[in-house]
Amino acid sequence: MLINSYRHRLFAASLLIALLGTFSMAQAKRASQDSGSATTVVIDAGHGGYDRGGIPGQQVAEKDMTLDVAQRLKRVLAASGYRVVMTRDSDVFVSLGGRVAIANSYPNALFVCIHFNSAKRMGAGGIETYFYSRESLPLASAIHYYVAGGAPSSNRGVRRRGYYVLRKTNIPAVLVECGFLTNPTEAAYAQTASYRQKLAEEIATGVRGRNSVTSALTTTRVATGETIPLQPYVDQTKVAKSERHRSKRSHKKSARKKRSSKPAESKTKAASKDQEG
Ligand SMILES: [Zn+2]
Repeated sequence: MLINSYRHRLFAASLLIALLGTFSMAQAKRASQDSGSATTVVIDAGHGGYDRGGIPGQQVAEKDMTLDVAQRLKRVLAASGYRVVMTRDSDVFVSLGGRVAIANSYPNALFVCIHFNSAKRMGAGGIETYFYSRESLPLASAIHYYVAGGAPSSNRGVRRRGYYVLRKTNIPAVLVECGFLTNPTEAAYAQTASYRQKLAEEIATGVRGRNSVTSALTTTRVATGETIPLQPYVDQTKVAKSERHRSKRSHKKSARKKRSSKPAESKTKAASKDQEG
């Protein structure tokens, strides 16, 4: 009887330990992978409808490639436990203001814009990732780290720029240029389903790893789990400003007045020219 009760207690204790072990392991796994529970990602497939994207005469329609990668990303993120919202889920036109309004209606969300690049020069190629607000840099770093690292294309780096969809959103917002559709090699890759799937998976890995981004200078580096280096970036908001300054050497006074009163608006115009291209 005494032995029996002892055995029972021993059994109960070992069962508890086993359960606790399983629970904490699951917790640790969840923490390191960031399963995304309660995190919303607003995915923005660039262009759509009458807006094909790219440059005139471009063979591969950017709007089709962005939608396909966005839908793949949606599936990958949903499988990781994220709540996903699409600014468009079919071949329709959504205005930039409409895209921003959707993003801003989810205050704790992340905003990921999918684009492909284009240039008149066929040789131009590579992966670029854009952000605007400082709070978006870790997300941009993580996404760029994986997409550029996993792509056969060259790394054109992280860039800060005042694109409308990045500047007007109140949540961490990143725009990925997944390669040049005017580059024959990169266009061939983009037209391959397995490559678009890989792009989606690399972007998703970046989203999941956004909290593991650390500056190389930090001393409080987390001992466990993978760390992602904060990416250096080119600040193109400053470049655009100086170019504008040079081009407006006449009417200096009025130009300066205009700049100081509405700097953001002129920035948008300068940037939006090639943004959705
Ligand atoms: Zn685009």
